[in-house]
Amino acid sequence: MSEYTLPLPVMTTLSKEYWDGCKAERLLYQHCRNCDEVIFFPKYLCPNCMSHDLEWLQSSGRGKILTFTVTYESAPPAFYAAVPYAVAIIELEEGFRMMSNLVECDFEELECEMPVEVVFDAVTDEVTLPKFRPAAK
Ligand SMILES: [Zn+2]
Repeated sequence: MSEYTLPLPVMTTLSKEYWDGCKAERLLYQHCRNCDEVIFFPKYLCPNCMSHDLEWLQSSGRGKILTFTVTYESAPPAFYAAVPYAVAIIELEEGFRMMSNLVECDFEELECEMPVEVVFDAVTDEVTLPKFRPAAK
């Protein structure tokens, strides 16, 4: 594995379960047992009903592109090495949305509503990032 030089996410006690899930190639989100709210990113209490009765569930990893952008130039300095890259808001089947990179695809063929599926990129020994590629047909 070549050295990963892009910025890494900051792990917290709150997000540890999520990042441990990614490392095990499981995309996790939270669910409120009190009001059935689907929650992403990790929170201590439900933003809908303020309950602490949250559980972790595993997403199918399947969803669709809500919107995206492809950066060909003028990236922030920390991301120069990644150009070109695609960033998207993905809506997962379970109803939550997350920002991620689109990979394993021709950027010219990307479009909103395109079905995508999660892939896991172990960028360091500690950090695995969830990314998305066009779903297998
Ligand atoms: Zn709730």
